[in-house]
Amino acid sequence: MIKFGPSGTDEAFAAAGYSHTVEVPSFIKENGLDIFEYSFGRGVRITKETAEKIGQAFREKEVGISVHAPYYINFAGEEPQKLRATFDYLFASLDAVKWFGGTRAVFHPGSPLKSERREAMERLLRAINLFMEEFYLNGYEDRFVCAETMGKINQLGDLDEIIEIVNVAENILPCVDFGHLNARTYGSLKSKNDYKRVLDALIDGVGEKKVKNMHVHFSKIEYGKGGEIRHLTFADQIYGPEFEPLAELLAEYRLEPWVLSESAGTQSIDAKTMKNLYFKHYDNK
Ligand SMILES: [Zn+2]
Repeated sequence: MIKFGPSGTDEAFAAAGYSHTVEVPSFIKENGLDIFEYSFGRGVRITKETAEKIGQAFREKEVGISVHAPYYINFAGEEPQKLRATFDYLFASLDAVKWFGGTRAVFHPGSPLKSERREAMERLLRAINLFMEEFYLNGYEDRFVCAETMGKINQLGDLDEIIEIVNVAENILPCVDFGHLNARTYGSLKSKNDYKRVLDALIDGVGEKKVKNMHVHFSKIEYGKGGEIRHLTFADQIYGPEFEPLAELLAEYRLEPWVLSESAGTQSIDAKTMKNLYFKHYDNK
């Protein structure tokens, strides 16, 4: 079944009088949602004990949880020490998501820094291969890493690059951030056909099974010459993209992704809007 929810706690969570992560599952249920993404963007700082308490609360309410790995990850890095740190950040995220009772850790693949893009991409693919060897050797096969499409043009992670990364191993899923794709292509996602081209390329590239179970980030995003500038809310009328044409396609293709709203402060409200739009089209099919 397709699932919708917010990435991080938002203004409505605080306004409802909540503050702690163990209260998130109640908030998700009260708002008619299904899932939540917990950010380790600034580092994996949580004890096993706390994480397991949070996990228990999510299990009791049957709310799904995924995590976002630290932003410092760079699989295209050249220094061995930094590459080791990248591996450790992602493994730590995978440990924590298991304590939470989840299976998915989203990561930003990396950036070329000063090297040529294709050269950096080859380095990144070699590093991800090595990472996945360790992944299987150390018993992580009950979990998934989700490689995210990136919003800034100078970051690795356009759609074709994500397809290459996802094809490295069975336990890598695509995390398609449609706001990012729209930002790095200066607003190319407008019609249902625009989204269809993306989904068809993805299905061609990584196969139907991985697309059916993919991870999705969605928000409207302001962009400029370099791509992404900042996340907006669904109130934006200028930059987009609009979710409805995608909702129609997700329903038509019978895809079952985890869809997370990354709106700026209105994640739970916009996630519910997406869920309603999806079921409007699902029920009409
Ligand atoms: Zn991300």
